Amino acid sequence: MSAFKTYKTTCSYCGVGCGIIAKKDRRGVITVEGDPDHPVNRGMLCSKGMNLHHVVQDKEDRILYPEMRWSKEHARERVSWDQALDRAAKVFNTIIKKHGPDSVGFYVSGQCLTEEYYLVNKLTKGFIGTNNLDTNSRLCMSSAVVGYKQAFGEDSVPISYDDIELADCFMIAGANPAWCHPILYRRIEARKEKNPSTKIIVVDPRKTQSCDIADLHLQILPGTDVALYNAIAKRLIDRKKIDKSFIHGHTDNFNALKESVCSFSLTEYAKICGITVAEIKKAASYISNAKGFITLWAMGLNQSSIGVNKNNALINLSLLTGHIGKPGSGPFSLTGQPNAMGGREVGGMANLLAAHKDLANDHHRREVANFWGGKEISSKPGLTATEMFDALENGKLKAVWIICTNPLVSLPNANKVEKALKNAKFVVVQDISNRSETIEHADLVLPAAGWAEKEGTMTNSERRITYLDKVVDPPGEALPDVEILWRFARKMGYKGFDYNSAEEVYKEHCSLTKGTNIDISGLNYIRLKTEGSFQWPVPKNNHAGTERLFEDKKFYTDTGNAKFVVPKFIKPTSEICTEKYPLILTSGRIRDQWHTRTKTGKVNRLLTHIRDPYIEVNQVDAFLRKLNDGDIAIVESKRGKVRVRVKVCDTLNKGVVFMPIHWGKVFGNDYGRVNNLTTNIVDPMSKEPDFKFSAVQVSKY
Ligand code: SF4
Repeated sequence: MSAFKTYKTTCSYCGVGCGIIAKKDRRGVITVEGDPDHPVNRGMLCSKGMNLHHVVQDKEDRILYPEMRWSKEHARERVSWDQALDRAAKVFNTIIKKHGPDSVGFYVSGQCLTEEYYLVNKLTKGFIGTNNLDTNSRLCMSSAVVGYKQAFGEDSVPISYDDIELADCFMIAGANPAWCHPILYRRIEARKEKNPSTKIIVVDPRKTQSCDIADLHLQILPGTDVALYNAIAKRLIDRKKIDKSFIHGHTDNFNALKESVCSFSLTEYAKICGITVAEIKKAASYISNAKGFITLWAMGLNQSSIGVNKNNALINLSLLTGHIGKPGSGPFSLTGQPNAMGGREVGGMANLLAAHKDLANDHHRREVANFWGGKEISSKPGLTATEMFDALENGKLKAVWIICTNPLVSLPNANKVEKALKNAKFVVVQDISNRSETIEHADLVLPAAGWAEKEGTMTNSERRITYLDKVVDPPGEALPDVEILWRFARKMGYKGFDYNSAEEVYKEHCSLTKGTNIDISGLNYIRLKTEGSFQWPVPKNNHAGTERLFEDKKFYTDTGNAKFVVPKFIKPTSEICTEKYPLILTSGRIRDQWHTRTKTGKVNRLLTHIRDPYIEVNQVDAFLRKLNDGDIAIVESKRGKVRVRVKVCDTLNKGVVFMPIHWGKVFGNDYGRVNNLTTNIVDPMSKEPDFKFSAVQVSKY
């Protein structure tokens, strides 16, 4: 008999979705390794994935029992699950009776498993009767959702990671996959090594590690992406390097796009972007010479006050060149979180409905309400992430239930979020770790099972659904999130939550997708456990999944054609830099930390990369402020300030500074929490905040 028991699962960090084999020995000690048979990572793992077992095994920070306080003046004390959920149900029912269903909300996470996402969506929209269910995925990829819907008529990522090995030109825009999607980056790197003529264009105001393999780094001014993609589009049109037959046969609105992008000269575009005309021409020539062209993007495009415009401007390049629905080609948004895609599938956002059905469509709402057997579903979109906390601050929202996310660190304008949480009548925090700063404001804390302590499914960036096995029991009285939710729903008196397992929840979700564009009615736990992962749609029991969408050149729009969306704004509409706040702050991830560090912050090996928060300042800006490398600086914006160590660099243009997103109030209010500074201006269509453009000043401490 083997000394180990092995379990197949998936990494719980980024949207690459690497397969993991967890091994448990006779003493219950876990080790992890990359799954050599998983099509995504083929045995590889990055530093975060390789250290996942430490997160499970180190239990010092774990929340072990429900805790509750009777009023804001009282301290929280340990209670039983029944006491905790009775109180939660009583408070929610009382508030709903007095102020209506829109006075409560749920704020969840792209790290939730699909079953959890499905259930909280059903509970909120189908039974409580409000659409106030939003997620930290709003901060991540909601601009891409709108971009896809506008261009293709559906939120649908067209391609697969396997297309990487078939492409010969990549445009990596507003993303640093070398640090944030490492295994995906390894595959691009390997493609270039094997086929050195492969061209890689990186578009980023920062010179990141992803530029190491770039043939061309377009170091544009923050926020000017639309001008760049329009400039490239103009060059392709002027040089007749477009796919006329695809455009005329399978797209709409080409003439409007042509008129719009050709209304500026390349010189004007270059000036807006802060790059040269020669660079624009070079990028266009790389694209026009490619047989397979892939665009990859992440938060640099999405987290912007013009995020949807940026998405559409970039997608237009794939449509112009006909690089979609064929091997090695297509637009490819990278999700930051492991299950942002799964959340989209179950409609886990304030403006979405389950199974990619349309919240604005009466028939769809009736269909889902009948399926669930609860209340009529409201047609009014719920509060999005930032709106939810605004509503807590102004008292319109009375109670919030926060699952698997730490908004006090991750939301923009964190001081405002703090006021909102203080003002809330009732805050529930359902989490695994007492390192979450948000817990400070919780009236009720519920201990949840973490990665490897429960079973379920997740969908990665390429629509691939993987099953995650349970490896160990959760500590103390912690429960899987699905169970917490169905127990609460029963306490609320709702019928339709008589589940006994996550598998039953998944079965229900799969059956609701039948006949939709994301049909996974041919999928179940048995297939996922025995046959491995699948890319949706999987409409039949013997269907092998769908590697690539739009191979038939039929899109989900009313006309069946893809649409060129003409971006309205080509310049950023965020804050204006002033004499008082002359620098543009942009924020992002570092290689070895994850979100608000509740997991990765406790792994010593990961701390050896970068231990403390910092600000990168261009050498000229540093000289003008008499700042040296290692000095402590005060960084201020209209909304707040922080104190951090300076890294003087030559990787940013003058006038631009960078801070990582991961640190909260570790040593006090003003230490390292970048979101003290960031603006909560959002894209008007996607409601995604602009984390990449805040006006700040930096001075010596
Ligand atoms: Fe996990 Fe992403 Fe690293 Fe893969 S690339 S091991 S999914 S963090």
